[in-house]
Amino acid sequence: MSLIYLNGDYVPHEQAKISVFDRGFLFADGIYEVLPVYQGQPFMLAEHMQRLHNSLHAIGITPPHSPAEWEAILRHLLSIEQLDNAILYIQITRGAEFPRNHLPSPNMQPTVMAYLVPFTPPAGEPTPVKVELLEDIRWLRCDIKSVSLLGNILLKLQSSASGGQEPILHRAGRITEGASCNYFIVKDNELITPPADELILAGLTRQHVLNLARGAHIKVREQAFSTAELFAADECFMTSATREIIPVGQVGNEIIADGHCGPVTQQLIELFRASRS
Ligand code: PLP
Repeated sequence: MSLIYLNGDYVPHEQAKISVFDRGFLFADGIYEVLPVYQGQPFMLAEHMQRLHNSLHAIGITPPHSPAEWEAILRHLLSIEQLDNAILYIQITRGAEFPRNHLPSPNMQPTVMAYLVPFTPPAGEPTPVKVELLEDIRWLRCDIKSVSLLGNILLKLQSSASGGQEPILHRAGRITEGASCNYFIVKDNELITPPADELILAGLTRQHVLNLARGAHIKVREQAFSTAELFAADECFMTSATREIIPVGQVGNEIIADGHCGPVTQQLIELFRASRS
């Protein structure tokens, strides 16, 4: 990564600077978006632009750019960085003002930043991972793709300390999501994932997987499932933009089914990989 889009300019990353009074730094008062690019083509661009718009709307920031302007920024970064497969990171905060004050002034100028990193799309045999079941200690607006990620970070650290790749979070025994992914289980050939309410981020990989499953006539249910249902599942997998679909073979000390990548997960991985080219 060498070039950063920052407030209308393209600057080398060592020169990309923001104020220490930026509300993103002081209060995590901002949102972000993560968009994969395959073979030079942004994946689910319209959906990512809509989610970016939704996040901004939820926290009361006027969108600084139209989707067409974002696409132009992305194409410019792609051409400069000469990348075919990449991940675009976008972050928008409410902006900077002095002195620090919880209540922001009206009409602040947002801080707008974006950059690309190289991306190697997953390939080959998927390796099932271990995840750790933890209580979801986060706030109640997890549908906003907010940069306020301290809860997610603490949970990820806790899971990692026990050898988990991700936490699998629950509220009162109902599975919500991961620190940076959504979860699905398969039971009796039915695909089940928690509903896209305020307790989870409506992952766009999740949405794509649901569409692929429906297209393949796999039965789908968007409904909360319990920890007991998780442990009794035939298959379990996680989804995220950068990891696509990863089978889960173990939750804590419990092996899920036989611990291998199950047939529905395998089918969805194949459909996903075919759909991205
Ligand atoms: N849930 C959380 C909390 C996330 O941070 C993410 C991705 O960062 C996801 C779910 C998956 O979303 P997507 O598939 O759009 O990457």
